[in-house]
Amino acid sequence: MKERSSTNAPTSQTDGSQRTMSKTVIHTSNVKKVYTMGTNKVFALRGVDLTVTAGEMIAVMGSSGSGKSTLMNILGCLDVPTEGSYELDGIRVDGLNRNQLADLRNQKLGFIFQGFNLLSRTSALDNVELPLLYDRSGRKMDTRALATASLQRVGLGDRLDHQPSELSGGQQQRVAIARALVTQPTLLLADEPTGNLDSHMTVEVMALFQELNEQGITVLIVTHEPDVARYAKRIVEVRDGRILRDHPVADRRRAADDLATLNAAGPEPDAAAIEEAA
Ligand code: ADP
Ligand code: MG
Repeated sequence: MKERSSTNAPTSQTDGSQRTMSKTVIHTSNVKKVYTMGTNKVFALRGVDLTVTAGEMIAVMGSSGSGKSTLMNILGCLDVPTEGSYELDGIRVDGLNRNQLADLRNQKLGFIFQGFNLLSRTSALDNVELPLLYDRSGRKMDTRALATASLQRVGLGDRLDHQPSELSGGQQQRVAIARALVTQPTLLLADEPTGNLDSHMTVEVMALFQELNEQGITVLIVTHEPDVARYAKRIVEVRDGRILRDHPVADRRRAADDLATLNAAGPEPDAAAIEEAA
């Protein structure tokens, strides 16, 4: 794989009042995806131009069937576009073969799914260590120590030996986030990460995403919940395989503040408390 410096060169970006130099993490140009089913063609993506720079936190929104998962699969190097180009962290992705895609995923990406996808009857520590055991770079590392540090980073340093069934939904998703972080990815990709969580756990998980983003990790979250999208810095709205709108979040919320409000309201937060917090 050839590093291409063209789009990976630092670009000047205005971030509020301060000017910062940011690296391009994602750059797609006219990405199209056509699924052929017998004689039928489904045009899932019809020309997507998307540029994401380091340090962004993006919510991709859109109704069912709009192309969100297709876009996520392409950005996540799980699939390649039918047409158009995609560069991830300066590496041209379209045209790579399966093994090259797998290596790229392992080096650069952390995935978080709606259903957590943890191994049951397996400790949090073992779950988080797993991606390191698939590492094919041959470098020496203390996988137990790295997995422990990753769980500490998401606030679960005291739950290393717990199995998924012994953890709350929010804690399970935090284990999944620790697993995504353990390989030190350039980009976190989350597909409906709060879809299986109640409102309190949703805010808890979003607070963690915001904290990680403040530490410099680029985060891209697919969601259909406006309340979740408001924690992002930028919203990309997809419709019929195209980007319909792409705008900064004007009334961005801090999940840590909302969490504090919820916790002050009592141990059993209900929908009314969330409404009040928002
Ligand atoms: P979303 O995630 O926004 O619900 P998808 O990306 O899953 O949307 O789907 C976009 C369109 O592509 C839909 O019309 C869907 O039916 C179609 N599609 C998605 N995956 C496949 C596939 N593997 N084969 C055929 N059609 C697909
Ligand atoms: Mg989907």
